[in-house]
Amino acid sequence: MSRRRRWVAAVGTLVVTLGVAVPALAQDSGPQDRTLQASGDRTSEVRNAIRGGRARNVILFIGDGMGDSEITAARNYARGAAGRLAMDELPLTGAYTTYSVQKGDPSKPDYVTDSAASGSGWATGQKTYNGAISVDAYGNPVPTLLELAKRNGYRTGDVTTAEVQDATPAVLGAHVVDRSCKGPESMARCPSNAKENGGAGSIAEQLVQTGPDVLLGGGKNYFDQKVRAGEFQGRTVLEQATAAGYQSVTDADGLARAGRDRPLLGLFADGNMEVQWTGPAARVGGTPPGTCQANPNLPAGAPKLADMTRKALDLLDRQDGNAGKGFFLQVEGASIDKQDHAADPCGQIGETVGFDEAVAAGTAFARSHPDTLVLVTADHGHTSQIIPNDAQSPGQTATLVTRDGVPMTINYGTSVAGRSQEHTGTQVRIAGYGPQAANVVGVTDQTEVFHTVSRALSLR
Ligand SMILES: [Zn+2]
Repeated sequence: MSRRRRWVAAVGTLVVTLGVAVPALAQDSGPQDRTLQASGDRTSEVRNAIRGGRARNVILFIGDGMGDSEITAARNYARGAAGRLAMDELPLTGAYTTYSVQKGDPSKPDYVTDSAASGSGWATGQKTYNGAISVDAYGNPVPTLLELAKRNGYRTGDVTTAEVQDATPAVLGAHVVDRSCKGPESMARCPSNAKENGGAGSIAEQLVQTGPDVLLGGGKNYFDQKVRAGEFQGRTVLEQATAAGYQSVTDADGLARAGRDRPLLGLFADGNMEVQWTGPAARVGGTPPGTCQANPNLPAGAPKLADMTRKALDLLDRQDGNAGKGFFLQVEGASIDKQDHAADPCGQIGETVGFDEAVAAGTAFARSHPDTLVLVTADHGHTSQIIPNDAQSPGQTATLVTRDGVPMTINYGTSVAGRSQEHTGTQVRIAGYGPQAANVVGVTDQTEVFHTVSRALSLR
């Protein structure tokens, strides 16, 4: 950071501390801003970025609901239109399709996926129906990247800002016919998966049984539910995790202190973790130009996604044992999606910026560990659109003053006001760095991520 940038950052912090509205939050950290470099010939840069062969490590970053529009809104607000996010710096990009399929009839697409079907797509390499957690269109379990990586001797991690039982983290380590079956007392929609009916149990129970080395996020509520059958009947899922060897932590201090001797379960909220930023809610007829503020409800001890990512990398990157095998880590920025549903532009942008800080931590690791494949993508598009400031939209809009010092109007119009906004069926960006990253180029399908990662780690 240059002296000027450090000064700007310090002033920004001071202003936020004093609660003054302008300048807005966090518009000055991250990659250095600069004018576009597109005028240069990038042929050799791109050629150098294409490397085949094996990876020791894979980091898969998922911005939930992070379509091109969500990326652009965050870039405009936090870096300026000509600035770049950390995720923009990956050398190879493409687009992938995200559609799901109909339950019981995988020959027919469902054009708008949810996070469960989409995550199951890259986790297993098979398309499935909305709501499915790593089961096929008929409800049969399919092995996941994390399970295969573990079976092949890799260390594994699963990190999110949502409940760890939420769809995107769940698809790596659980197989249930409906995403709502998060704990042993929440199995109404998955009777066949319930322990008391001879199934493998709820998502929380199955995550413990799958046993990633690092499992971080929210969702403590479901770990407090009681197991209903089998060895741990009558005990909580957290007790089951402890019996399986997990150390558990609940705040940033505990996270920082956690050692490598045991697998790590971090549960930092009862439900989803709090978002980083707050600001004017979009409404029909629009808002006066405003800025984003730090969320006053954010617990002081809550780690950021970048903190969780750095800790996961630190714990997973062990040099001992398993013939030097590396790791597979998924990191999800979950509440980009959730704040898009809520038509909350500052919530959404703050989560996108927080996700980007985690990506920066991942790419920094990859630069010092060049045998690391980094993929940055999304599971589906979402509602928010950047529209002209004088547009007469029938949707809900809010206007934010960006890093450029000019107003940007964001529109939410996939549902009526007061209802949850909807996912969209658009293709989304996928970006890559490291071995096998060339496979993101062009237009692919999200299920190809399964094959790219499997190839990179020689999974079988
Ligand atoms: Zn969603």
